[in-house]
Amino acid sequence: MALPSQTQVLIIGAGAAGLMCAATAGARGRAVVVIDHANKVGKKILMSGGGRCNFTNMEVLPKNYLSDNSHFCKSALARYTQWDFIALVQKHRIPYHEKKLGQLFCDNKAQDILSMLLDECAQAGADIYTLCDIEQVTALTENDLPMRYKVKTSQGTIYCESLVVATGGLSIPTMGATGVGYELAGQFGLPLKPRTAGLVPFTLSPAQLAVFSPCVGNALDVSVSCETTNGHVSFAEAMLFTHRGFSGPAMLQISSYWQPGKELEINLLPQLNLFGFLSEQQKARPKVLLTTIVGELLTKNIAQCLCDYWGAQWNGNRPINQYTPTELQLVATQFHEWKIMPAGTEGYRTAEVTLGGVDTNHLSSKTMEAKTQAGLFFIGEVVDVTGHLGGFNFQWAWASGVAAAAYV
Ligand SMILES: Cc1cc2nc3c(=O)[nH]c(=O)nc-3n(C[C@H](O)[C@H](O)[C@H](O)COP(=O)(O)OP(=O)(O)OC[C@H]3O[C@@H](n4cnc5c(N)ncnc54)[C@H](O)[C@@H]3O)c2cc1C
Repeated sequence: MALPSQTQVLIIGAGAAGLMCAATAGARGRAVVVIDHANKVGKKILMSGGGRCNFTNMEVLPKNYLSDNSHFCKSALARYTQWDFIALVQKHRIPYHEKKLGQLFCDNKAQDILSMLLDECAQAGADIYTLCDIEQVTALTENDLPMRYKVKTSQGTIYCESLVVATGGLSIPTMGATGVGYELAGQFGLPLKPRTAGLVPFTLSPAQLAVFSPCVGNALDVSVSCETTNGHVSFAEAMLFTHRGFSGPAMLQISSYWQPGKELEINLLPQLNLFGFLSEQQKARPKVLLTTIVGELLTKNIAQCLCDYWGAQWNGNRPINQYTPTELQLVATQFHEWKIMPAGTEGYRTAEVTLGGVDTNHLSSKTMEAKTQAGLFFIGEVVDVTGHLGGFNFQWAWASGVAAAAYV
């Protein structure tokens, strides 16, 4: 199928936001063309949620999003809610379940969500072209109205009334991520907020890795926090020791707030008063070694490794009845308030999202249209709105896509 020479709506990027926008605008009766440079559409949908796509969350609140303008996301999220998307999923009879913390996943596979979006696009008459590279985008003049943009692609030139940029963020370049959306924003004078990898594992220094290598592969429920310019942020979830550093949901969440050069504070036993517990154990099991007792609370590997690492502070591993209250307090403080400086993060190679992006102060929160460039819209992850882990990024993609679709 040859690329048409003109359309009412041209969407660049056939990912979550682009497909949602295409289906919704098409259903309004608009002629829609979607182009994507990748060989397949919706690659991130397919790899999301461990292949099961955490497509939304039962509780979506503005506080689940990071943005320089915390109010920007509210309007779109209120007009297309998680319940709207759940209704669509139910209409397509896609089986799903809540895994934890309101996170909704497909029972089968993420392909169900992609197929649903493609069905909706087909029903709405939106045509999708893959392996289509953008070569040049030019704004037209008043004389060319209703056409506003001319887009030169590897499959020919196409004129459109509305141009929607849905090219996503920079994470996982091997899945087709490019910076073209940011370049287009720059071309039309829209500023960008600084971009960094978010929802990303931490790396440790070689010296730190050598110390914690016995813990690799071990996971535990922790609470992790860090200081930000807006105060203290913390998340209580699982962490995982990896060959490169720390991962797991708690670490991915806090990574979106962490600044290089700052410490993380990890409470390895958030549900327990360790000092009180160890004091009781002195009476109940006086001869049992400290590492054995801590190993029953954490894993044996983690307890042994960390007690070896920190043990000099409390004169090594001994039967629990030999510790003074001051020493037990040191043990408790260390396990409840472990301060560690990561070397960095794994970066865009493994990040789930890109923080920052197109400055929301230059977009309409109602329509996603650039305030100073009629007919140019930005939706999804390319915009400076980034969700927490848990289905929030897809909900933003759906909601911002639907918001734009009503006006393109
Ligand atoms: C491993 C992983 C797991 C994730 N799991 C979840 C999850 O379970 N729940 C959740 O809410 N979020 C998850 N996310 C985040 C979520 O996938 C994204 O936030 C979401 O896909 C953003 O939607 P988007 O449409 O803006 O961008 P994308 O879905 O990334 O789509 C952008 C599209 O634009 C195309 N494109 C890029 N450059 C060009 C170009 N130059 N020319 C033409 N086309 C171009 C790309 O090929 C792509 O198809 C995950 C992300 C990753 C990486």
